[in-house]
Amino acid sequence: MAVFVYAENINGVYKKAAFEAVSYAKSVADQAGDTVTAISVNPTDSSDLLYKYGASNVINIKDEGLKSFSAKAFAQAVSEVAEGNTIVFPHTTDASSIAPMLAVMKNYSLITNVLEAPESLSPFQVKRRAFSGKGFMHAKAEGTGVIITVSQNAFGVKENAVSGSEEVKNLSVANEDTKVISHEQSSGKLDLKEAEVVVSAGRGMKGPENWGMVEELANVLGAATACSKPVSDIGWRPHTEHVGQTGKAISPNLYIAIGISGAIQHLAGVNSSKTIVVINNDAEAPFFKSADYGVVGDAFQIIPALTEKIKAIKG
Ligand SMILES: Cc1cc2nc3c(=O)[nH]c(=O)nc-3n(C[C@H](O)[C@H](O)[C@H](O)COP(=O)(O)OP(=O)(O)OC[C@H]3O[C@@H](n4cnc5c(N)ncnc54)[C@H](O)[C@@H]3O)c2cc1C
Repeated sequence: MAVFVYAENINGVYKKAAFEAVSYAKSVADQAGDTVTAISVNPTDSSDLLYKYGASNVINIKDEGLKSFSAKAFAQAVSEVAEGNTIVFPHTTDASSIAPMLAVMKNYSLITNVLEAPESLSPFQVKRRAFSGKGFMHAKAEGTGVIITVSQNAFGVKENAVSGSEEVKNLSVANEDTKVISHEQSSGKLDLKEAEVVVSAGRGMKGPENWGMVEELANVLGAATACSKPVSDIGWRPHTEHVGQTGKAISPNLYIAIGISGAIQHLAGVNSSKTIVVINNDAEAPFFKSADYGVVGDAFQIIPALTEKIKAIKG
């Protein structure tokens, strides 16, 4: 039976996390001597993009009622077409709310925040992130089926082209529980949760008028921008940039934290970043304990100097 994977799209366009989930599903399928079937809801992108990462079958669900997101309705739609007993999701905001609903509907085990290819398939056992990224655990699925969500930027996007075929499924799932009242789109060019590099700043920046230098550093690095909670609470930056326990949880390859003290609630959302660089003028700032590289100094001197240096290296 094929390994199924939910290929998430935003306004029809596949997310990078979808390619990572398909790459992951392909590695599971290879271990099982099986194939990958990807499921997507109302995509406009070509299925070729999913064949490239190893999906040999793509089921495109067409459903006008699913133009707006509802975890329950999307889980219902996926449950109608996913026949396998291994279903992979990316650990995005939307997918990580669909996956538990689907697990209940199918009475399957659920393992979230998976980091690596499974250690065994029968029983399904895999390493996952635990305790807000402060630890790891090896989780074992029970029962007949398993649903997993793959932590973003953990397994990576791996090309593994196969020849594929596409199937269109017309559904009309009831989607009456959710009414969209307002919809805030992140203003940044890069999706914070998908970004490989994030430049983040806190109250140490003193005021919103000083964010130009943060954005310039982000621009030269091709990075997304983020901020600590108080910064978005007082309106210096939009709420879409708030990272931490009560904000977005991210795991970029590089997280640069400027003028952020490193409170436990902030760390909860960023400490699974692969490399953390901290810039703070207080050598005792708690964030240095979690840093791979630390710079003790004034952000107002260090940010422009760093930006110029990177520009020089790139140019
Ligand atoms: C229930 C709960 C949930 C929370 N959730 C979150 C969350 O999701 N995310 C989050 O971020 N916080 C969260 N918080 C708040 C958290 O506890 C901290 O208060 C917050 O992270 C501090 O933000 P900060 O580091 O920007 O500010 P501060 O703690 O004020 O730190 C500013 C830092 O900037 C440094 N600095 C000052 N001037 C300079 C300079 N010129 N150059 C370099 N460095 C400088 C200072 O040394 C200091 O370390 C939560 C709190 C609670 C109680």
